Amino acid sequence: MEILKELGLEDKARYFGEEIPRVPEEKYTMIVLLRETKSHCVFTTEIDVLNVARVEAGKENSEMIDRVVMFKRKQVAPERRSGKRLLREYEFMKLEDCYLMDNVCCECPDCLLYGGIRAETSQKARIYYDNAYTIREYDRVHERLTLTAIDEKTGRPGAAFTDVDHLKPNVVLPCVVTLHNVTPGEFAYVLLNIMRTKRYGAEVTRIGSVENHIVGLIFSTAECISNLDLTQALYDRLVKEKGKPLKELAYNDVEKHIDEVIKQLIAKKPVKADVVTKNETEKVVSKFIENYKNEENVKGLLENLMTQAKAYVKKYQR
Ligand SMILES: [Zn+2]
Repeated sequence: MEILKELGLEDKARYFGEEIPRVPEEKYTMIVLLRETKSHCVFTTEIDVLNVARVEAGKENSEMIDRVVMFKRKQVAPERRSGKRLLREYEFMKLEDCYLMDNVCCECPDCLLYGGIRAETSQKARIYYDNAYTIREYDRVHERLTLTAIDEKTGRPGAAFTDVDHLKPNVVLPCVVTLHNVTPGEFAYVLLNIMRTKRYGAEVTRIGSVENHIVGLIFSTAECISNLDLTQALYDRLVKEKGKPLKELAYNDVEKHIDEVIKQLIAKKPVKADVVTKNETEKVVSKFIENYKNEENVKGLLENLMTQAKAYVKKYQR
């Protein structure tokens, strides 16, 4: 619980466990994110068209619109890889011990939190992601770009690739990552992964840059907000303020409504929730950054996670 004290969250201790639980209790931490594209991004599955979902624009604006979707696995995989890289960098694990997707060990801190399946055993995840949606409709946030490669020999553009559908820069995707009965160490590990992951989707060596703004924390005895709820509630507020259609939308336009929207969504649920507002969350985040700039602290955190994981495996898996 030392970590919570360092972040000024000691009064939220009841929502965390001292150790990794066999059966999770009703203790939830929700990290509210605004994922903002910082370059063009490609969130596609197979074909060269962005993934799109037809959903209600808002709760008060119930017309159907097409929104670009960032599938949950496109969020989990890169964040999980960041964590695994960190564990390897400090030599707590080797690549052959555990890697995505074909050889997850179901024993390391990462597998015990994000889950995994292998032949003889499986580990349920205690971190929940959901698909994320753009606030505005597909037509306003996408752009088809033709990619050309430079021929090294001639220095001239070579054959053009077919044009690919891209999400434009500065597009916001509201998101909630839910942690279910985690330890304070696991909470810190997830924050590190979210903050250290900068690239998502396809073509990440050139594009795919995304900034994850952490704008709120919710502690509760139940899951309370879905990504789509959050996106639709923000849409309603923005339309009220700026009128329809939402032609331009800057990050700040969205961010300034976040506290009100969270409050409004939670008020409708039969749950008790401790909400940390945007300004307070920013303070938590700066304390966190200050703390984990220091490599020794990162190492200490990972060491602590390894000890926890080993204790769990000894107690329940063997
Ligand atoms: Zn593992």
